[in-house]
Amino acid sequence: HTAVPDDHPRSASLRTRHRIEAGIDAGITSRQGLIAEGRGEAFDYLIGERTIESAAAAERAAAAHLLRAESPVVSVNGNVAALAPEAVVDLADATGAAIEVNLFNRTEARMDAIADHLRDHGASEVKGLTADARIPGLSHERGKVDADGIHAADVVLVPLEDGDRAAALAEMGKTEIVVDLNPLSRSPQAAAVPVVDNLVRALPAITEHARDLRDRPEEWDAIIEGFDREAALADAERAIRSGQLE
Ligand code: ATP
Ligand code: MG
Repeated sequence: HTAVPDDHPRSASLRTRHRIEAGIDAGITSRQGLIAEGRGEAFDYLIGERTIESAAAAERAAAAHLLRAESPVVSVNGNVAALAPEAVVDLADATGAAIEVNLFNRTEARMDAIADHLRDHGASEVKGLTADARIPGLSHERGKVDADGIHAADVVLVPLEDGDRAAALAEMGKTEIVVDLNPLSRSPQAAAVPVVDNLVRALPAITEHARDLRDRPEEWDAIIEGFDREAALADAERAIRSGQLE
């Protein structure tokens, strides 16, 4: 790939796009992942390619949830692995969460490529390959998860999750944190904590909040209870519709 010049007005977005292209070449990302990336870029453009205040509040609530959880899991798909492998590992380290590969279009080759890629970026254990449990309400392939991973988790972070699967996980009673730039998408609508922000900004932000809050457990409940998911979704929609790029 040709290098993206730093002075290009949209250099960050172009670099992100190249990561998805490289992910496809490496067998990590599916071709549908390109379409998802395009949708994400459009929403990011409209939101001003920044972390709006309500998203920052969601990121802090997400950190508190992950820290308070008994068995938190960060779910990783092909776009997440291509865009932010080191950020996934950092977040798991900061919160004690497990990492599980979970694909909408599951193939053993992509599962293995993603697990290897995460290990190359420092992950010590990667779940998802055992697939000895199912999410109820989804077809066999779509519902495959690890019994000691997502199936047993009380809090799951599912960035860029499909709407049906997000709803099925919520149905299982899990506290779900979804990162998705489209506040109207069914996935953030199903989440206890919808984070309407670009994944590449959201994961490091959640990690930073987790490091900040790690030694202050007495603050977690208030942060979690003070977060208003409806208000956050409405605020994100307002930011997008107002068209005021800052
Ligand atoms: P629906 O949820 O309405 O059923 P969908 O989930 O089928 O739609 P997809 O294109 O599969 O639609 O989902 C991709 C979603 O991920 C889009 O909402 C898109 O905005 C979002 N997205 C893509 N890339 C990023 C990113 N880097 N950061 C945050 N969100 C992203
Ligand atoms: Mg969606």
